[in-house]
Parts: sequence; C-alpha cells; structure tokens
Amino acid sequence: MKRLICLLLPLLFLVGCSQTVTAQYYMMDTVMSFELRGEHAKEAERLIADEIAALETVFSPTRDDSELSRVNQLSGSATPISETFANLLQTSLSAAKETDGAFDPTLGGAIKLWRQGSVPPPETLDALVTGYETVTADQNSVTVPSGLTLDFGAVAKGYASDRAKAILEEHNIPRALLSLGGNVYAKGGGSPWIVGVRDPNGEASDWLGLLTVQDCFLVASGDYERFFESDGVRYHHILDPKTRKPAQSDLRETVIVCDSGTRADILSTAMFVKGSEGAIEFWEKSQDFDMILVTNDTVFVTKGIAVTFELTNPAYRLEVIE
Ligand code: AMP
Ligand code: MG
Repeated sequence: MKRLICLLLPLLFLVGCSQTVTAQYYMMDTVMSFELRGEHAKEAERLIADEIAALETVFSPTRDDSELSRVNQLSGSATPISETFANLLQTSLSAAKETDGAFDPTLGGAIKLWRQGSVPPPETLDALVTGYETVTADQNSVTVPSGLTLDFGAVAKGYASDRAKAILEEHNIPRALLSLGGNVYAKGGGSPWIVGVRDPNGEASDWLGLLTVQDCFLVASGDYERFFESDGVRYHHILDPKTRKPAQSDLRETVIVCDSGTRADILSTAMFVKGSEGAIEFWEKSQDFDMILVTNDTVFVTKGIAVTFELTNPAYRLEVIE
C-alpha cells in the first residue's frame, strides 16, 4: 500500500489511502485539507467546503461584512443574531463559565492588539472591555457592553468540523480525514488513522509521538502556531483572559480528543491557559474527553488514549494521567 505523509499544522498524518477525493483550501485564516473516500465523496467534499465558507461569513473577525463584525460594531445595544450565531454564542458562554473563564469569547479587543505584532502598552490593555459574564443573549439577540468585542477564533473551526461531520454522515462517507488547521476529524471505516502530534520544540514537520484514532475529533493548540518575539520573549496567541496577555502556561501544546469538535476546540485553548495542574484537575472532574499535554520535557496522556499513543521523541518523558 502506498504510504503518504501529509504535513499539516500543527498535526501530521500518516495515511494509507487509495481512491480518495482530496482537496485543500485556505479558509478561516488557515490551511484546510480534506480526504474523503466513498461513492459520494466528491459531492460531500464540495458541500463541506461550501458550509465552511458560509460559516466564515458569520464568524470571521476580519471581514467587515461578517455577522460577527456587525454585532461588534453595534455593541452597547441589543442586536438581532442568526440561529447559527446564537448557537455558538450560547455554547461559548456556557464553556466560559465551565472553564472558569480560561476560555472567554470576549477577548476580541486584546486579540486585535496582540495581532499587530508588538507588545501593547499596559494602559491600553487595562482599558479594554472584556468579560463573558457581561454578555446577555437568547436565541434571537445579543447584548454586549459598549466597546466589547466578541471573537470565536478559539472555537469556530471546531464548530465547523462538527458541521462537516454531519455532512459526511448524511452522504454515507465511510472514511475521511478532515483537517481544519489544527482541528482534525478522523472517520475511520476500515483501518484507523495514525496522527502525528507536533513537537512544539521542533519544526512544523517534526512530531513527538503518534496517536491511533478512529471516529473522533482531535484538536491541538500550541504556542508555536502564531507568535512574535521581542527582546527574546515569545508572545504567542493564546491569551489569559485575566491578564489579556499571552498565557504564562507551563504547557507548550495541548491536544484534545473527544466526540465533539466544538468542545475539543474550546478545551484545547482553555487547557492551555489553565496549565498542566489546572488542566488535569479539570479533566478529573469532567472526564468526557481525553487529552495530551506537552511541557518542555514531559508528555502527559490521559488513560483513555494511553495505549494508542506512542512517544517517538526520546527528549520527552511520558506520564499517564489515571
Ligand atoms: P486555538 O488555536 O484554538 O487555541 O485558538 C486561539 C485563538 O483563539 C487565538 O488566535 C485568538 O483568536 C483566540 N483566543 C486566544 N486566547 C483565547 C482565550 N483564552 N479564550 C478564547 N479565545 C481565545
Ligand atoms: Mg481552540
């Protein structure tokens, strides 16, 4: 069987494949790669791309004509929202509460400042309006305080991968691997997929271990994805909502494995912010997902995926979370 290595950020895939439809897009500010097998693969692939393009018109933080931009422009007053917007907003607000604010969809102002590629003045950061508790919403409208900016960058791709999974099911696609940036959905009719977990200390093509998966979402977040350096300090894109600055986490990378793309995406960001101790404590309470946590020298793996994970880089030691 032909062995194909697809290099994708931040995960790598080793895939045995034949007679598949493959496609690559740049959407939602990231490279997306799809690989589908089945009678209706072409049609499903097209519908998935259309669906993600449609979601981009709702959640894009950079397009002036997106629904998100309209809501943000109208902060301070009750604004009508679509059902899709309301669904992801409600899920995000509940997740913000559940994670004690480690994930917070109201950091848009801080995200824009840090995206400029220099350290914002402290007084500018302090003056920002943020806080998920200040947002009120129902199925038809949202009200955010004046000056507050919503942002779904930590969850929109995961949400899109859930929609993509539904399309695969509607079209009876038995086998597929969808990568929406670091958000992966692996549907494994036949043999399982082997996914490479990125080494945060290496290049984009280096991995530290391999995970064997079938029918689940895998989402990775890391400090290597988007960052700038100033005076020898790395300023990455995952912010601590308490400080509005890049999270001072002992973690370099988190990988969440579960049966919801939205939840996996939210938790990949939130667990990074919490750091290894907080993440393990959170997992012990909920236990509805598996995770890989990577520090500079240790890879923690929860017991549910420990037997399917193989550490390949000897620079790390492995610890199983029981
Ligand atoms: P991810 O790659 O899924 O971890 O998402 C990171 C992106 O989510 C960033 O580029 C920001 O747009 C946004 N973000 C950063 N920190 C947070 C946070 N603590 N809560 C919610 N969104 C965040
Ligand atoms: Mg995320």
